[in-house]
Amino acid sequence: MGIEYLLQMKSFMSGALNLLLPQNCLGCDTPVAAAGQFCVPCFRRAVFVTPPFCACCGLPLPYEAAGAGGMCGACWDHLPAFTQARAALRYDELAKALILPFKYADRTDAARGLAMLMRRAGADLLARADVLVPVPLHKSRLRARRYNQAALLAAQLASLSGRAHRPDALIRTRATVALARLSATERQAALAGAIIARKGVEVSGRNVLLIDDVMTTGSTASSCAAALRLAGAARVDVLTIARVASPDDD
Ligand SMILES: [Zn+2]
Ligand SMILES: [Zn+2]
Repeated sequence: MGIEYLLQMKSFMSGALNLLLPQNCLGCDTPVAAAGQFCVPCFRRAVFVTPPFCACCGLPLPYEAAGAGGMCGACWDHLPAFTQARAALRYDELAKALILPFKYADRTDAARGLAMLMRRAGADLLARADVLVPVPLHKSRLRARRYNQAALLAAQLASLSGRAHRPDALIRTRATVALARLSATERQAALAGAIIARKGVEVSGRNVLLIDDVMTTGSTASSCAAALRLAGAARVDVLTIARVASPDDD
């Protein structure tokens, strides 16, 4: 029995299980009709990222930024290495309740539902993507956490969209400090050389969709995008579950 066959069976079985098991709301334990949905009260509380937002980094804006190519001030000052970043939700209390158990408390079973939420927000980005790449964790963090939450999301999105998935395309050469409260220059210094593309990774001429759970300043995503562009990627977009609207919300 070939490994391909076993993998197919495994994916079929998990698909069948998904149909059999009752699905819970993304935000609470209320049963819902299908995975990746909110119950009515959680849906009412959920703050989806809707226009107007920055044409580049997807930052929610209080008004349409028509004068600056539709971009926010930060992108206008320093254009990120990615082309477009989009997120499903604002990073608020509800988004934290979705993401933190998934990220830190072994609730890896949430990955599929969260990926479905991301698929709706990032339909355009997924449509033009050739390959999905997760933001990498440093190996010391991976050892402590046992899984890379971004890679779990990327794997689920790849299976939902039929896109290729390269979980090992990027390497974090060292652990970085929390970036949210640093200035743009300090963030750049903290990230310099910290993320590189694996030698021989096949992204040349491809449209890459970078996957992460939360985007805060966009500096990490931009570093990842720069490494992928250096390896020949034609374009890098970014898709996350949630977007921090101001670094103080982190
Ligand atoms: Zn709910
Ligand atoms: Zn922006």
